[in-house]
Amino acid sequence: MPDSRASTPLERLRTPVQFLKGVGPQRAEKLARLQLYTALDLIFFFPRDYQDLRELVAVEDLIEDEPASISGVIEQVDFRGTGPGRSILGVLVRDNQAYLRAIWFNQPFMRKRFHEGQHVVVSGKPRFEGNRWEMAHPVVDIMEMGEIPEGGKVLPVYPLTEGIRQGVMRKMVHAALDAFGSDLEEVLPESFLEQHELLTIHEALNKIHRPQAREETDVARKRFIYQELLVLQLAMSLRKHQLNDRRSAIPIPVDFRVDERIRRLLPFELTEDQNQAIHEISHDLGRTIPMNRLLQGDVGTGKTMVSVYAMLAAVAAKSQAALMAPTEVLAKQHARTLTKLLSHAKVRIGVLTGSLSDKERENLLKQVAAGEIDLLIGTQAIIATEITFKKLGLVIIDEQHKFGVRQRAALRSAGSDPHYLVMTATPIPRTVALGMFGDLDLSTIRKAPPGRQTVNTYIADEDQRAKWWDFFRKKLREGRQGYVIAPLVDETQREDTLGGVEQLLEHLANGELEEFRLEMLHGRMPPAEKDAVMQRFARHEIDVLIATTVVEVGVDVPNAVLMTIESGERFGLAQLHQLRGRISRGQHPGYLCVFANPATDASKERLQAFAGTTDGFELAEVDFQLRGPGDLFGWKQHGMPPLRIADLQRDGELLAKARQDAFSITDTDPNLAGAKWEKLRRMVMIRYGKSLDIGDLG
Ligand code: ADP
Ligand code: MG
Repeated sequence: MPDSRASTPLERLRTPVQFLKGVGPQRAEKLARLQLYTALDLIFFFPRDYQDLRELVAVEDLIEDEPASISGVIEQVDFRGTGPGRSILGVLVRDNQAYLRAIWFNQPFMRKRFHEGQHVVVSGKPRFEGNRWEMAHPVVDIMEMGEIPEGGKVLPVYPLTEGIRQGVMRKMVHAALDAFGSDLEEVLPESFLEQHELLTIHEALNKIHRPQAREETDVARKRFIYQELLVLQLAMSLRKHQLNDRRSAIPIPVDFRVDERIRRLLPFELTEDQNQAIHEISHDLGRTIPMNRLLQGDVGTGKTMVSVYAMLAAVAAKSQAALMAPTEVLAKQHARTLTKLLSHAKVRIGVLTGSLSDKERENLLKQVAAGEIDLLIGTQAIIATEITFKKLGLVIIDEQHKFGVRQRAALRSAGSDPHYLVMTATPIPRTVALGMFGDLDLSTIRKAPPGRQTVNTYIADEDQRAKWWDFFRKKLREGRQGYVIAPLVDETQREDTLGGVEQLLEHLANGELEEFRLEMLHGRMPPAEKDAVMQRFARHEIDVLIATTVVEVGVDVPNAVLMTIESGERFGLAQLHQLRGRISRGQHPGYLCVFANPATDASKERLQAFAGTTDGFELAEVDFQLRGPGDLFGWKQHGMPPLRIADLQRDGELLAKARQDAFSITDTDPNLAGAKWEKLRRMVMIRYGKSLDIGDLG
């Protein structure tokens, strides 16, 4: 075994699972499917649940239809074919003098799992059939020899993969723990453990993998959840300190004269929430520390105006500003809005997108470098191109969730860092925001500008189709416009596939909407073409756009107040909400009809919640609950490593505490340079150094 020669504890902990007692090459291959490669991985492979054997029910005490677990020994395995592709597998389990029959229909592969003499725990819904108890398709936990001692105990239940039984998994984890557990070092200082009433790593591992009682497992889990969140928040606070301490920005002071000049250019009074955000932003801009702020606000709450304010402040301070949008359509829309607003001001605007010719781009870049452009608006092309700004003071990133990663590094200009304002229209629950964007300051716009019309939302089925189209046509004849959102073909489909747009257009043009001007809009069209269609739609040369979710992002046509969404059950809540945002932009009320065939409870709940409120933050919370951990608002797209045991929703309280602790640690020791933090610092760097772009410490 290579581990016997390995010298350091860490090397020993990295022993491949294959060399552990009871594993071997074949099981090692299966463990790889669970991303378990080393002894260390197994030790930190946490149970997803526990089976409390003290809660087992005797077969004779079972109650019809009441879920329960029993334990016993398999006496007989009986498999019968009952027709082509059909079969019944019966497994007879004896518990003292009583019997229970576990049955599976048409699952012949299950037969291999069982044989006589096996000790099993069977969980499911019991029914009394004929003269004995039965459970159809129960969950069966096959015990290893000697796993159920006298008096009962609590057994960990691990996530499994095909070919590895629960009992075997337990043995392997325990083998890793026994052989190498003592090599694990405590990363948290003793005084810290005491102060926060946390178990030591060894106590916690023992209790999480080998609890004597269920209550113990909570304390043990708490230690690991807290540690995971502490590491995350330390990463955030380190990054924040680095951005603050190591870089300097050009201050953009906003005094009352500048403020007045800017407000005179704006076509309306700003809302209270907008003003609050501007207040926070102005405060940041005035400092030599680069601003690093996330502005979140639902679609249509007026984030653009806030960013316009900030950009004008930058220009007033004689520096340049860049605005980056996720699509060309949106970049051009921003450019038009700004050009219109600033038609009387001496602000020079440039637009940089992928569709510029080489010559045009070259020209534009020259102007930017010479300081002849004040506002540069564009797409990703802005960071994909080597741009030298004469004096870049501010960068605004719109619809940040579309970009995925933290791309700020690319726009660092010589000598100083620009201020950063990142905007997102995806309302994120507070705990997620702290978790994922804990290094940013947060401004929130909650209320939309006054006079905003609500959208009437209907969830409908086929029966209501004719009536809906009647209404749709009536509104179109009154001069309104609308969207029909084509169904997604499958869940993985992104906005750049064609989906059913073509078919739908064909169908509607020859049927329900034949008297109107229809056009398609989808992600496969070249940007210039998309933009042309959007512009004609904005000029009302088109009545209805048949579109994929490409319209989801920020397009603003106030006269468009109608929307039909097909196969609504296939859309996520956030996506539905973004789509609805397209039709609440003008002075007319909006009407949205979602045709859906929800098949699961979750999708029913999702649609109900969607029809029940237009508050994006409320919907985000619901979405968060329905989606569960693991699928956290682009957590993965942001390059964040998965959380192993913490759940930002469930563990919100611990998150707040970990955050507080992390920031108080880095307030006194901004680089975690103290010897007592050494191990923890290493852990932070290994886990988040890359994804959060935390530079070398020390
Ligand atoms: P967001 O970017 O947050 O989705 P926008 O900035 O595009 O929202 O604003 C949506 C619409 O509301 C735009 O038509 C904009 O002109 C308008 N608007 C923004 N702020 C105000 C305000 N304070 N009063 C009235 N209308 C506003
Ligand atoms: Mg916007």
